[in-house]
Amino acid sequence: MEEPLKGLNRVEAAVEAERCLYCFDSPCEKACPVHVPIPEFIHSVRSNNIQGAREIIETSNPFIETCGILCPQENFCQSVCVRKSIDSPVRIRELHRYVTDNSDPSKGLEKSEVSEKKVAIIGGGPAGLTAARELGRAGIKTVIFEKKDLGGVPLQQISSFRFPQKVGEREVKFIHQNFITEVRDKKITELSELGGNFDAIFIATGLQDETTIDVKGKELPSVTYAVKVLKTLKSGLPSNIGKQVGIIGGGNVAFEVAIALKIENPDRDVKIIYRRSLKEVKAFKSEVDEAIRVGVTMQFLATPVEIRGTDHIEGILVRQTRLSKEDETGRRRFEEIPNSDFLIPLDSIVIAIGQSAAPIFSQIEKTEEGLIKVDENFMTSVVGVFAGGDIIRGSGTIVESVSDGKKAAESILKYIKGGKNV
Ligand SMILES: Cc1cc2nc3c(=O)[nH]c(=O)nc-3n(C[C@H](O)[C@H](O)[C@H](O)COP(=O)(O)OP(=O)(O)OC[C@H]3O[C@@H](n4cnc5c(N)ncnc54)[C@H](O)[C@@H]3O)c2cc1C
Repeated sequence: MEEPLKGLNRVEAAVEAERCLYCFDSPCEKACPVHVPIPEFIHSVRSNNIQGAREIIETSNPFIETCGILCPQENFCQSVCVRKSIDSPVRIRELHRYVTDNSDPSKGLEKSEVSEKKVAIIGGGPAGLTAARELGRAGIKTVIFEKKDLGGVPLQQISSFRFPQKVGEREVKFIHQNFITEVRDKKITELSELGGNFDAIFIATGLQDETTIDVKGKELPSVTYAVKVLKTLKSGLPSNIGKQVGIIGGGNVAFEVAIALKIENPDRDVKIIYRRSLKEVKAFKSEVDEAIRVGVTMQFLATPVEIRGTDHIEGILVRQTRLSKEDETGRRRFEEIPNSDFLIPLDSIVIAIGQSAAPIFSQIEKTEEGLIKVDENFMTSVVGVFAGGDIIRGSGTIVESVSDGKKAAESILKYIKGGKNV
């Protein structure tokens, strides 16, 4: 697998830092879900105090290295950069990455004395680990219950061509060694399985199931799911996907799996099949550009009707669509065109239309989509049990999960000061 492109060099970083206007109301900082003091760290870069810049970012964001590479700047800080109205936005994420590439994790984060209070955290992804760091800093003991490996999606699924494993592992190890009391390798599906007395519980299990399509043939061999393929490739095993693969979906995960399969075997034909047009694709522009660069092809305005085959796949029958009126979000709907079906010959199909919450924690109130309901303090319908990350918001981003982990930790601290045990 390819290593991601290298970040900025010293000269490029200095030039970029010079472009910051240091706006008095810092729209970039407000747009960042964890409110990294962006002008402040850029100022440190400008004066070549890179370690100082790191400490500024690290205080607000424990996933500083991961976010420096993976944060979708198009959605957050850079989208509101005032410089954009003059020429182009300051490359904030790249400056952030420059800082992490050229500094060491700081040892100076303040920590309170350890108390006897203990919190159980279910799930060791960005939300769970962030809550653990914040609680650990406040002197609370934390026990993380993790069914696989600490790190969540970035370490278990995101391809190494976008995110080097060693960067993620280093960051998770730092949080583990400095802020977490204990990690137990255990899957928890009901609160009663936790055992022991905890002063509060935080659920951060993310989205564990894959959404499927309702078409004939979806159970045929050689029809599989995006996250399964990404996890296989991430663990260094071959995908065992054929040479003519159709990826159904138009989100980031669909594009990520398409790129990963093309990189795994450049002779493989990889085609994205999506029912709207390129304009409605939800994947970030950088992912779409990368897919085009590596040679992924795209069939837009086509919706699956039937997967054809018996013991092996012959292809997918699709129906042409056209775009119609906008929905309430401003995104155009699509409608099927009668008598327009055609077959796309394929030997494998990867379904990549989204992830959903696993049906666990029966005691806790859920939304219609099966996500955990929380109040403004991140508390669930069970007193003393909090939740955050993708399990409450659906498919989100790393930085939003980090933000949930921070806010939930604050609420947990307030709650346990009340002295209740769950
Ligand atoms: C393929 C892919 C690519 C992505 N790319 C990006 C990107 O580039 N940038 C970005 O910002 N976001 C990206 N995202 C989204 C981002 O990864 C998630 O929003 C984020 O990881 C959610 O964090 P979380 O802590 O809520 O859950 P997760 O990261 O899902 O972590 C949940 C953890 O809980 C554990 N767990 C689950 N169930 C149990 C259980 N019952 N008992 C014990 N442990 C359990 C899991 O093993 C996992 O470690 C991507 C998502 C995917 C799927």
